[in-house]
Amino acid sequence: MTSNCQLCPRRCQADRESGRLGFCQAGPRPRVFRWGPHFGEEPPICGDAGSGAVFFSRCTMKCLYCQNSPWSWRGEGRDLEISELTAIFRDLAVKHRCGNWNLVSPTPYLPAVRAALAPLRAEGIRLPVVFNSSGYERAETLCEYRDLCDIALVDLRYANDATALAASCAPGYTAAARAAVKHLWETLGPLDAEEPGRATRGVIVRVLVLPGHADEAIENLGWLAAECSNEVHISVMSQYAPAFEALKTPPFDRVVTEEEYEEVAEAAADFGFEHGWIQGFGSRDASSDLVGENMSAGEGTVGAAP
Ligand code: SF4
Repeated sequence: MTSNCQLCPRRCQADRESGRLGFCQAGPRPRVFRWGPHFGEEPPICGDAGSGAVFFSRCTMKCLYCQNSPWSWRGEGRDLEISELTAIFRDLAVKHRCGNWNLVSPTPYLPAVRAALAPLRAEGIRLPVVFNSSGYERAETLCEYRDLCDIALVDLRYANDATALAASCAPGYTAAARAAVKHLWETLGPLDAEEPGRATRGVIVRVLVLPGHADEAIENLGWLAAECSNEVHISVMSQYAPAFEALKTPPFDRVVTEEEYEEVAEAAADFGFEHGWIQGFGSRDASSDLVGENMSAGEGTVGAAP
């Protein structure tokens, strides 16, 4: 898969084994920036021991507001042998007793992740696998690597390809992300538990409200309700903070206004979503250094009394 790489929608056909890298610049070996128990995901993903997160370096998108740019854009991290990745997964499961293995932006490395988990699974060490993704995926790849996705934690970020191209250099994002979400919903179905750390299967769709583009978040919620179901757990996030190239690129150089955010929150209610989380506008944490990774747990359950 990495000598003619077509893992993501770009389908570069890069020969990563021989050093001819593709758009994401991922090499032949899995490159990891950091790993450890993580407590910043939605509550069903994070129990007392946290989610066993592995943050992979490189990314198939290049978002101008990326808050992970040191490793996503610049590739900080370390190339690992498969056995080293196995040891990380083992530590997360056995030493830290995390509730799941949380693969953060793993797409270029899926063959390596499968190879790394194989010996653990053979020993009977098994955790649910969280596939934590920007949404820019190929349904074919998700199908091929079905064993690496028990819980999908997936973004629906744009409904307009021109925005996706300008903000994330991701041609065809809308169709790709929607096909991926539809596939995941049809294969995994609703989240099987809402108690902290108890989810073992299902889908959470994240909607990060972007400044000047609240209409796209609303359009995606409408699409999700119509084409999948309003039974999907949604996670609407207000925490966008300008960073990196966005600091000089309007409208991404500002935070989301309360009015924009309220429009999206109201649309979620209007479309009948009853499961998930709507992050309180005031809970936005300007010091967050990881978009989508530090949301406050347990806040703003959709449909809860004010
Ligand atoms: S994962 Fe990387 S190399 Fe493979 S198709 Fe996507 S961008 Fe190209």
